[in-house]
Order: sequence, then structure tokens, then C-alpha cells
Amino acid sequence: MTDVDLLILGGTLVTARSDGRVVTDGGIAIANGSILELGERHTIQTQFSARRTLAADGMLIFPGLVDTHTHLYQMLLKGLGDDLPLMEWIDACTQPSIPHLTPRMCYVAAALGCIESLRSGCTTIFDYTVHHSDTQAYDAILQAFDDVGIQGFLGRGLRDRPAETQRTSAPGIDAQLADCARLVDSYGARRIWLAPGATWALEEESLRATRRFATERGLRLSLHTDEVTFDSDESLRRFGQRTVPFLERIGFLGADVLHAHCVQLTDAECQILARHGACVSYNPVSNMYLGSGVPPIPRLLDLGVTVSLGADGAASNNSQDMLEALKVGALLPKVAWRDPAVFTAADAIRLATSGGAAALGCDDFGTLEAGKRADLFIFDPLHAKSTPVHDPVSTLVYSSGEVNVRSVIVGGRLVLDDRRIVGVDEEAILREAQRLAEQLAVVAGTRRRLSGRWMRERARIKGALVEA
Ligand SMILES: [Zn+2]
Repeated sequence: MTDVDLLILGGTLVTARSDGRVVTDGGIAIANGSILELGERHTIQTQFSARRTLAADGMLIFPGLVDTHTHLYQMLLKGLGDDLPLMEWIDACTQPSIPHLTPRMCYVAAALGCIESLRSGCTTIFDYTVHHSDTQAYDAILQAFDDVGIQGFLGRGLRDRPAETQRTSAPGIDAQLADCARLVDSYGARRIWLAPGATWALEEESLRATRRFATERGLRLSLHTDEVTFDSDESLRRFGQRTVPFLERIGFLGADVLHAHCVQLTDAECQILARHGACVSYNPVSNMYLGSGVPPIPRLLDLGVTVSLGADGAASNNSQDMLEALKVGALLPKVAWRDPAVFTAADAIRLATSGGAAALGCDDFGTLEAGKRADLFIFDPLHAKSTPVHDPVSTLVYSSGEVNVRSVIVGGRLVLDDRRIVGVDEEAILREAQRLAEQLAVVAGTRRRLSGRWMRERARIKGALVEA
């Protein structure tokens, strides 16, 4: 018998491998953070012993979901930006808040977002962290990842064209890149990425400098690409080309670039991204919330582009729920193409698992197989929402929710143990998040619009009652 750290015995293993392997009555042996072996229960049971064994009879076991685009600080902004298009939403909701964020606010928001993510079966998050003048904000978010126990990647936001509502201008791009180097020295090149906001947020020379820095240091890049028509309109105005051809001309594109959104791409631009081996993060809930449009995901997949799934920030979602993103992400192309077969449940799971790992430049997670990180969740289908189960893939995409996620393992560590968050005091985080969110809304002035909206709504309802 080989001694391992953790055994999972029983349950149906949905490996999400390309061969579609599913093992009924399976077993998984976990050692040193990785899956040592997986297969039929009896072969695992006879080979391995462990200090702790999880009985998973009747459960479904999936690889952890991967969220490749979010902004965790926005957990404090839930509900402040309803019913606005992107550029107005930025001016009314996010931009006034950013200068007032303290490192503690960033920590609490990130911990809260990680808790919600874990509870939706998500084991890996890529946080696009906006540019902060207090660079301790980045360390705070990385600390939250580690405390909650989720695998966290941080895209360090870069911006040198000031927003109108910004109180002070940002430091030059060289100082921002120097801070990226500091983060890479502390946390490693796997976790720290360069994240220019969008082409409209930086000078051309700064975009070029960022690309050079990434190439020299072997760092990966992520930016918002053609989320709304403003992106390419502004690119045309400033550079004489739409976003993607412009990025190609300045040598920015590559297989190490993750493009968030890509809603407005033309077919020719899809082909340019494919030619450069680009990766894309599909953020369906946010695209619907802001009325941005539907990205050409089926076309990008046909062209061989690496596509992944993201929740996007909680100010435009308004949650970090990856199970919801999975369902909405599967439904949206069906509506846009008027074709229920254009994008399937299996496509959705692939994007949210192996597609996510590939988009993050990693091949050591995203599927259940020996040698990969033990990132997985145990799904209890015995709830009205998900009973009966005929096809576990269909169940996960269309008939699931937080109620089903019983335990989550990240890097071999049990971080959600029978529905209990292990790493932090969840209730304390929830209470502090509410208090800090209220504080932030007052100093940022973001509540003003909200109270006006409710007053108008109330007046409308009152008027309707009088008429009745
Ligand atoms: Zn974003």
C-alpha cells in the first residue's frame, strides 16, 4: 500500500479530458498537491491508504472551474451600476471608486470574491487588478488568494492616460512596470501578468514598452479587447486602425496575450487573432449586463483560438458565480445564432476547465488526470435543482448551483470542507465587506445616482398606483 495525503472514494469522475473519459464508482489518490492516480474505486482502494478519506458515493466529481477574467475589488460595488452601457458605467461606478480603495478594502473584496468563486466550484482565478496608486493593494489581493486557498493569478493593471474622474495622474509607464518587476520578484512569473487596461487607456509608446517588457521577462499579457464599439472607434481616431489590426501592427499580439471580451470582432479580426495563437476570455454575463453584445465564440473556436470563460467583475455581473457563467455562456450563442447546437454543454465545460488553463499558459490543471494538480470539486446532485441526473455534463451546465458544491480541493488542500470555508472566517469577511462597501460608496459618491434612481422608480410606481 502506498500512503497518500487524501483519498476520494466513490462517485462519478467527469475528467473533462479530450477523450471524454467518465469513471463511474471511481477513486482518486492525492499526494503532494497532485493527482497521483485515478481510476475505478477498487483499484485505488487496493493500492493506496491515506490519513483522510472522503466518501463520495452518489457524488459527481469535476475538475475545478477556471475564471480567466475578473476584477475582485468590484465585489464592493455590486448593485451600483445597473442599467448603464460600459463607458457610462465606468464613469458612474468603477472610476469614482478606484482612487478610494485601500489595501484593506482590496483584501476584503478579494477574499469575498474568492469565497463566492470557491462555492461555485471555481479553483483558479485570474484577477485583472486595475492600476492602484498604493501598490500594497496588489499584495493584499495575492494575500487573499492564499488565505482563502484558491489558485490566484494577478494581472497588474497598467494605465497612463488619465480618466476624467481621476484625482491624480498615474505615474509613468516605467514606474508601473518597475512595480510589476517587484511583484514578479516576490510572487513569481507564473502568477504575475502585465495588464494594460485597453488600447484607449494607454499611449502607443506605453503599449509598445509593455510588450517589450513582457517579451524580455517572459511575462504574459492581458487586456480588454473590443468589448464595445468605443474600443475600435477610439483606436481608429487615435491610430487610424481598429484595435486588432493596430495591435498587430505594433507587434503586440502573440500566444502569450489573453484578450478579454472580443465582442465586436469582425471575421477578419478573428482570423488575425487565430494567426497569432491568441487566447480569449468569454464573459457572457457581463456582456449581457452592460448590453455590450455577443462575442463570436463559435467562430473563434472553429478557427482554433484558445477560448476560456470568465465571470468578469461583480460590478458588471453581479456575482463571481462560475456555475451561472457556465449556463449563461452556453445559452447565449444559441440565442444569437438561433441554433441550439452551435455551442454545447460540453463546449461550455471545456472552456471553463482545460480552456481556462490553456488561456493562463498552464498545462498542469484543468482536467482530472494523474500528474495534474489536484484542483477539483465534489458535487452533490441530491437537490431538487439537479435531480435526476442522466448526463453529468448537462447537469453541471444547466441544472446546478452553489447548493450542489459540497467540497472543493485546490492543490490537494481541502479549502471548502463539507460546505465550510476553511481558510478564513467567512462571516467576519461578509460583515466587513458590507461595512467597507457602504463606506466606499459614500466617499466615492456612487450612492448618489442610486438614490436618485430609486426615487425616480418610487415616483413612477406611486404614479402608477394613483392612476390605478
Ligand atoms: Zn474586465
